[in-house]
Amino acid sequence: MTRLKLHNTLSGKIEDVVPSEGQPIRMYVCGPTVYSRAHIGNFRTFVATDVLRRTLKFLGVPVLEVMNITDVDDRIIQLASAKGTDIREFTEAPTKAYLEDLATLRMEVPEVMPKATEHVPEMVALIERLMARGHTYTVDGSVYFRIASFPAYGGLSRLDVSGIKTGVRVDTDKYEKEDARDFVLWKLKGDEPSWAQWDASFGRGRPGWHIECSAMSMKYLGETFDIHCGGIDLIFPHHENEIAQSECGTGKLFAKHWMHVDHLLVENETMSKSKGNVYNIPDLLAKGFRSDQIRYMLSQSHYRKAFNFTWDGLAQVETALARIHTFWNRLVEITESAGAPAHDSVVLAAASALASFEGALANDLNAPEALAAVHGLVSEGNTLADRGVVNAAGAGVLIDALKRMDQVFACFEPPKGDSLSAEEQALFDSRQDARKKRDFAAADVARKALQERGVVIEDTPKGTRWKRVRA
Ligand code: AMP
Ligand code: ZN
Repeated sequence: MTRLKLHNTLSGKIEDVVPSEGQPIRMYVCGPTVYSRAHIGNFRTFVATDVLRRTLKFLGVPVLEVMNITDVDDRIIQLASAKGTDIREFTEAPTKAYLEDLATLRMEVPEVMPKATEHVPEMVALIERLMARGHTYTVDGSVYFRIASFPAYGGLSRLDVSGIKTGVRVDTDKYEKEDARDFVLWKLKGDEPSWAQWDASFGRGRPGWHIECSAMSMKYLGETFDIHCGGIDLIFPHHENEIAQSECGTGKLFAKHWMHVDHLLVENETMSKSKGNVYNIPDLLAKGFRSDQIRYMLSQSHYRKAFNFTWDGLAQVETALARIHTFWNRLVEITESAGAPAHDSVVLAAASALASFEGALANDLNAPEALAAVHGLVSEGNTLADRGVVNAAGAGVLIDALKRMDQVFACFEPPKGDSLSAEEQALFDSRQDARKKRDFAAADVARKALQERGVVIEDTPKGTRWKRVRA
């Protein structure tokens, strides 16, 4: 069985991912903070982790994945208060939107999607363990993690923490602490709404941001698990703090492997509200792009390189994907020599493309190379079909190879039912009617009305066809 080799931020090396005896690969993904709809940058990271889990399954390795939902933090509390609601009510819509987008992008649903607010007792228990082991101190009722008590701190980001001076803010928490590097585990917040407070043996308050991921990952995956994932911005301080809390609490290694996904930029710039370049999945759908195109776009580049989103790039994705879909449709229509075996050259083409595909993904999830193997198969398959070498059985072999590859990319199968809306169909029919009656002016009006809706009409010898184009 081919083993996945994956870059490990902890060692800086590409290493084998090996499950523990009799266990699935246990992976944890830092999930969305549900204060607004996740943007395409967030989904670059989430789709990359979906490609990871699908690749493991493609390679025959069972997976147990936990992705948390962060439904408590300063912003959520502020926004919910301003709206006169509470956490539960406020986070309902963004959580639902996240699950919708996840389905749109054909992401597999992680086995466990725990909410932070439903795991406060586990966080309290972990803080109690840290207290008992002498890793904490309290200032005005808030509990801090003392980084000086964990000499290995900074190992993930290879950060020389000794250089961070007291008084320099490295965290968003605005509390007095012994050392600027220290971070809050529990905030005493007497002045906040009661729905944002929980009881704990060390006082009523709420958890700091980092503790939830340690508590929830260890609850569902065990104190040591295989892969921890997130975007590169989380390496420091979030993941560094997760390691400190978890390893000091248990005395064991926390995650064996750390996978970090580089950022998505928009036209070479970071996304920001002020630049007006923050796009989400419905924004792209509203521009007429399909979910399979968005998925291809988000998964086509290497996860360890920054990805530059451009509208031109998304249009190019349309062409690349249409090439695969057209080939697939061509294969479906091949019925020649039913019952005869597939030609050797076809079987060989499929097998060698699959081997390259698997090799590319197994080598640190090299998506561009894996997609090159897919496109190579399309070229070779088309050439063989042009030469009449692909019979019905051969077409079956090629479709099976594409289906197998699609277990990872989930966008190669041609979309079914791309149909006209009722209104568009009525316009289409009225144009055809007008043409029959030789009322070309009326036919032209209907054709233009369709064009305004992004539907272009083509009259071919085989009849009138339509296709969607972008405005
Ligand atoms: P958040 O909801 O802010 O906690 O972010 C969810 C995930 O998206 C985290 O893993 C972030 O690291 C990741 N992320 C945030 N911005 C980007 C971006 N521009 N490109 C890729 N991933 C991002
Ligand atoms: Zn996290």
